[in-house]
Amino acid sequence: MNSKNKKNKKDPEVKPPFRGIGGNFIIIFILVTAIFYLYEYFNVRGNVENIPYSKFITLVNEGKIKEVSISESKITGEFKDLMAGKSHYFITIPVKDEHLIDLLKSKNIVFQGEVAPSFWGNLLSWIFLFYILSLLWSLFSRKMPSGMQGLFSLTKSKAKVFVEKDIKTTFNDVAGIEDAKDELKEIVQFLSDPKQFTRLGGRAPKGVLLVGPPGTGKTLLARALAGEAKVLFFSINGSEFVELYVGLGAARVRDMFEQARKAAPCILFIDEIDALGKSRTGHVGLGANDEKEQTLNQLLAEMDGFDASTGVIILAATNRPEVLDPALIRSGRFDRQILLHNPDQIGREQILKVHVKKIKTSPQLDLEKVASITSGFSGADLANLVNEAAIVATRRGSNQVEEADFSLAMERIVAGPEHKKKYMNADEKKRIAYHELGHATVSLSLKVQEKVHKVSIIPRGMGALGYTIQRPIEDRYLTVQEDIYKKISVLMGGRACEKIFFNNFSTGAADDLAKATNIARAMVTQYGMSEKVGLAIYDEQPSPFLNGPYQQFVTRPKSEMTSQLIDQEVQSILDNCFKHSYQVLEMNKRFIDQEVEQLLKYETLNETEISNAWREYGV
Ligand code: ADP
Ligand code: MG
Ligand code: ZN
Repeated sequence: MNSKNKKNKKDPEVKPPFRGIGGNFIIIFILVTAIFYLYEYFNVRGNVENIPYSKFITLVNEGKIKEVSISESKITGEFKDLMAGKSHYFITIPVKDEHLIDLLKSKNIVFQGEVAPSFWGNLLSWIFLFYILSLLWSLFSRKMPSGMQGLFSLTKSKAKVFVEKDIKTTFNDVAGIEDAKDELKEIVQFLSDPKQFTRLGGRAPKGVLLVGPPGTGKTLLARALAGEAKVLFFSINGSEFVELYVGLGAARVRDMFEQARKAAPCILFIDEIDALGKSRTGHVGLGANDEKEQTLNQLLAEMDGFDASTGVIILAATNRPEVLDPALIRSGRFDRQILLHNPDQIGREQILKVHVKKIKTSPQLDLEKVASITSGFSGADLANLVNEAAIVATRRGSNQVEEADFSLAMERIVAGPEHKKKYMNADEKKRIAYHELGHATVSLSLKVQEKVHKVSIIPRGMGALGYTIQRPIEDRYLTVQEDIYKKISVLMGGRACEKIFFNNFSTGAADDLAKATNIARAMVTQYGMSEKVGLAIYDEQPSPFLNGPYQQFVTRPKSEMTSQLIDQEVQSILDNCFKHSYQVLEMNKRFIDQEVEQLLKYETLNETEISNAWREYGV
């Protein structure tokens, strides 16, 4: 850390955020008091019995009254015990009775006068009034047409940017995503000493986009980066920019960048940027859309408007990268993207290790085992699991958390209504492992243009139970017929492998088959690759340059016979590829069995692991 950083820490110009918190506090306070007094009020009233004056006198004579207060319009008081009536208290309308006081004295009953209305009643009505006023206020200030803004300028543009310094989170709190940390280390270096970093003229990335499913630690990683670099951390949620008033979002963006620039070196973090950076070409709506567009344009302009040497690094996170405006991710803006995945076996173990530090565990606790039953869990799920396990152990009265507590907590989370997670039994896992290795093996054996990059049986997203990632060896602009056959064969590999090792099929291949069918159909109707159908084109892709919502797939008219022929040809391509796939897998049973074992153990296999094994066992 250099001296510039130190100076910044004491920089008085950076104001802490206060809006939000202050306003909410008052409203919550009012609500709580109102509820409290309402409760008291009705509770007391509910316990009050209305009795006639005559009965009151009888009760006094019988000594069943404890104390009374007397006002002009009513006499209230307390029964001595519940036997006298169902309630604690009573109320009665007084008649003119000169002997009452003497009677009360003779029975030794405490009595007092009372000024109506009561103190509590008064207070209550005040609080009520105040509460209703504040409700009205908040309704008004939200729904107001823009012309009236001036009147209520109090609620206007105070960007809810949170500024923090001395963040305690470090990379040690983030586990299981070593690649991501490695990439960010460079930025730590830059932030702690910009001069040294740029001495050869290289420039640091301007923006880094963290992409990954919810709970994979994006927000955590951003904070950790600030903690490591020991710089100020400005954070704002993308949804904060989406305001009803036109122009306010853009003003917030401008404001935020200005603050950040003054405080450099620092990190500016926009969480859930998809709320703001949605593709502009989408649906055309009314006002709200205009506003979004303005805000986004402002963000783009601000990002272009400064160079990285100012020492501001912009970090953003999203779990929906597909909706982001392409302009945001082009180079010069968020030009670096870091992908975060749900952790694999080893990753989960490391994340668990971080989180169990906060609880008291039994020395026999085997985190490897816990990790092995939690496939599909995100980092956030694991943090939650550790907490639940601690609660289970506490309830059990134990003074340390044991493995059984984790199992119980696990069941609660998996079976619980809010946390439905994919929970795969051993049989399913095994089938998925064979399926995925089917894809990988065919790919390796046919030496397709793509390398097997990763095989995994960690469920991902809604549909996929496992996945095989292939990466292209080089950029390709043309695909020859043979490669297309290979591609379809690889897609068939999953199903063929299930057939070989289980002698039946599962629903797991539906997606593969859909893709394969599309490709086969395209061969026949778009690329003229079927001899029987010939060179005539029946389907046409819309132009890639005019991609818009109105572009449609063009299908040319064709005779009944041609349609049949096309279907037959598609069918035969798929059949042939399946057979080919099947043969390849039959030859490689040894390799597959071997790797399935590894896959079940570690859940992911990377490129080197697979290619090493292939060199040894592959045919
Ligand atoms: P995201 O922003 O990706 O949705 P968060 O960063 O908010 O996820 O993660 C929520 C919590 O889950 C974190 O505060 C942390 O306790 C836990 N967590 C998530 N990922 C990790 C990880 N890789 N290592 C340690 N803890 C993690
Ligand atoms: Mg987050
Ligand atoms: Zn598949």
